[in-house]
Amino acid sequence: MQAIFENFGIYAHVPFCSKPCGYCRFYKLRPKPEDIAEYVRVCAAEAGSLAREGVPEKIDTMFWGGGTPSSLSEGEIERLAEALGRFRPSREWTVEVSPSSASRGKLETLRRIGVTRISLGVQSFDEGVLRSLGRAHTLNETLKAIDAVAEAGFENFSIDLIFGAKGQTESQWRADLRRAAECPVNHISAYCLEFESGTSCCGGITGAEEIEKRAREGDFFEIAMDELPALGFRQYEISNYAREGGECLHNLSTWHMAQWAGVGPSAASQFGGYRRRNAPNFEKWKLGIENSAPAYEDAVKLDDDEMFSSALIFGLRMNEGVDLSVLRARFPKADCGRYGESIKFLEGLGLLEALKDRLRLTRAGRLVADSVAVELL
Ligand code: SF4
Repeated sequence: MQAIFENFGIYAHVPFCSKPCGYCRFYKLRPKPEDIAEYVRVCAAEAGSLAREGVPEKIDTMFWGGGTPSSLSEGEIERLAEALGRFRPSREWTVEVSPSSASRGKLETLRRIGVTRISLGVQSFDEGVLRSLGRAHTLNETLKAIDAVAEAGFENFSIDLIFGAKGQTESQWRADLRRAAECPVNHISAYCLEFESGTSCCGGITGAEEIEKRAREGDFFEIAMDELPALGFRQYEISNYAREGGECLHNLSTWHMAQWAGVGPSAASQFGGYRRRNAPNFEKWKLGIENSAPAYEDAVKLDDDEMFSSALIFGLRMNEGVDLSVLRARFPKADCGRYGESIKFLEGLGLLEALKDRLRLTRAGRLVADSVAVELL
């Protein structure tokens, strides 16, 4: 059987959002009809260029994220699928959908073109929390979208939730988790809202507030780690929980440092020994593709040291952790010895645990995964 790190995926970034959310760091723009037509046309050209670079036509997974892929009309969804049609995912095809732009017709279209998995950006079932997040959708739209996904026949169905909104209480968060688990889903993502200075959500946050906020986020994170497994959803990654077999294969492949090619502005790629990112600017991306000039920036040549380090850091995000003997075999020229002291130090703090060659975060370690990564780098 093919090892997960041998997978190849395509990620298409659909950069359109009708109402950008204050907290969001993804590249996005408000759609104009002519932009979407241009986008689809340039995606087709980029797909051709990726094929010429050696991206295989038979791939394992496809993921359309954004932005808001569901802001496309039914016809535009079909045209984007045609534009990327040379790539055929054999195992999983996920599309992110927003409740404000999910319609029965669009979900049936997605099902008809071969999409196998829907990730719905619910964020919260609480109207007050949605308003605090600045989200464009209402609870009523969320409930209609959930029905539409189920009626279109998607068995692989994920709901995204967010914690850490200003004013959100622990009981609101518990209620969100329980309500999500009652939906016909086999996957729940529970993300921490990352406040960024200068965004509309966090203006005026002081140092003391920041410390209090971080402590509160830790409490919310632990609530998810306790509640969701009790509701039948096993945590398999820092922010991701699934029923048996419901894990997102595309994201798992990424954390295992497999290969993927990105399409669209700001999309990242890792294949053929390089990691790179398309320009996070619609015009630059378009001009690059049209002039056969690289649409990407920050291309990094990947050697064994870089890949070992990435596979270790991202692998530790998963509850199963990493098998160091597998990483050593995959990246034989890596200087694995340089992690020894940090690993011992983190074990001593109770943040990492080792069982023979398997290394994984403890529960306490999962709460501070970013700091563990910094120590290992
Ligand atoms: S809909 Fe999603 S991608 Fe668009 S601004 Fe909001 S969080 Fe960002």
